[in-house]
Amino acid sequence: MVSAQSYLSTRGGSSGFSFEDTVLKGLASDGGLFIPEAIPSLPADWQTTWSSQSFQEIAFNLFSLYISPSEIPSDDLRHLIEKSYSTFRAPEITPITTLRKAENLHLLELFHGPTFAFKDVALQFVGNLFEYFLSRRNAQKDAGEQESLTVIGATSGDTGSAAIYGLRGKENISVFILHPKGKISPIQEAQMTSVLDKNVHNLAVVGTFDNCQDIVKELFADAAFNARHKLGAVNSINWARILAQIVYYFHSYFALQKAHPGENIVPRFVVPTGNFGDVLAGYFAKRMGLPIERLVVATNENDILDRFWKSGTYEINAEEEVEGGVKETLSPAMDILVSSNFERLLWYLAFERETTPDQELSERQKKASEKVKEMMVALKTQKGFSVTPAMLELAKTDFGSERVSDPQTIQTIREIYTSSDTKYVLDPHSSVGVTAALRQIASNGPHLHQVCLSTAHPAKFSHAVDLALNGTDGYNFDDVLPEEFKGLAVAEKRVESVERADKELVKEVVERLLEGEKA
Ligand SMILES: *Cc1c(COP(=O)(O)O)cnc(C)c1O
Repeated sequence: MVSAQSYLSTRGGSSGFSFEDTVLKGLASDGGLFIPEAIPSLPADWQTTWSSQSFQEIAFNLFSLYISPSEIPSDDLRHLIEKSYSTFRAPEITPITTLRKAENLHLLELFHGPTFAFKDVALQFVGNLFEYFLSRRNAQKDAGEQESLTVIGATSGDTGSAAIYGLRGKENISVFILHPKGKISPIQEAQMTSVLDKNVHNLAVVGTFDNCQDIVKELFADAAFNARHKLGAVNSINWARILAQIVYYFHSYFALQKAHPGENIVPRFVVPTGNFGDVLAGYFAKRMGLPIERLVVATNENDILDRFWKSGTYEINAEEEVEGGVKETLSPAMDILVSSNFERLLWYLAFERETTPDQELSERQKKASEKVKEMMVALKTQKGFSVTPAMLELAKTDFGSERVSDPQTIQTIREIYTSSDTKYVLDPHSSVGVTAALRQIASNGPHLHQVCLSTAHPAKFSHAVDLALNGTDGYNFDDVLPEEFKGLAVAEKRVESVERADKELVKEVVERLLEGEKA
């Protein structure tokens, strides 16, 4: 039987992976990404039963559709969810606020987790899942055979601190985060290096972010090193991260409904996009049956996705092809060349349009995976590919796209600050989304409820916010600075310098620090 609680790879058509497999492996061994064999449908009474529930209860309902209770018993799942969101500062976890009432312009604040970034919503849960699965495996093993996991990642800012806060203090897990020394924002650096838990290690590598990422890739490809330390990844392709992000689409839908009684709410969600994880979660919500008018992919000047929606061609252009072709923008968490999670959408587009329902399901899945494989090979060897007109048309029924430049990003931060009743300060990523929403209001009017996902707290990106607001009447950066950030500069720090961007040197440092952890 096909089940949403069993997973297949986008490249292999092989199936039958458990949820635990998808979480601990991250990436399938054929290089593909895990997706559920079927997209579950909602229970008949979801609109009434879920409408008054908390974020955590909605999370439980949704996760139960994708995780078999034989894998995680319901009580354990409830406990994992409670624990994961107990670290959030807002009681609603992801509160929604209205920027302009007359224009139905809303902001879904996703940054109330421990590192003030939306990645906390997923990584708090993923960290607890890692710990849960490992300790369950270890309960059946002798003292000498205990499994442990060494999580290694590279960061230019947000992902690293969210991963560290998701994994700090977790049993049997060590975490190593590489960052380019002196090249990340002081707040982000202080956030990471002030975490003093024994299992957390920050490596400041003399080099660039690309150097760090290359080293991490080399370590994963180093079979002996990987086998010795059992490497784990927390990058944005982990299925559990997508799953966790589905929750706030539902939660915000109910919040809007409550605020507008009697209205038939069918919101548009506008999502500042990098690796396509956040907006993909919205796609799952829509496919499950949540009323969503459409999902808008909002990119910065790194606009490969916007170009795809306009042309049907996904390609790295000549400008991007050169070494370091990604543009540095004011919204750095979205500075990507290609979006890894986009592969998951391509699979569904191929499944729906390159096969027909009269074919055997397993044949359809195999065909979709073959299509995806072809496209991914073309991306590697020819720097791009085009989808069929039918696939593009389908992509356009669920999604729209907008590209937002740096000057527009700044302009919108200023405009929202001066025009919202609350003098709201947007961070530059959220501003990319709001700019896209304002464009739609300008061309189509304000009849639609638009929910812009707000992915970071403005204090984390003070440079862009200052560019936009310095000199504006009444603006003072200290007013937006959360208490939690004020002591960071003087807090005790622990960080290991790595003097060359060299894999062997990083291996030495990792092994030395792992030894030290045991001592
Ligand atoms: C990661 C991130 C994004 C992009 O999210 P994706 O899921 O990769 O599309 C946007 N804004 C901020 C602040 C982020 O940290």
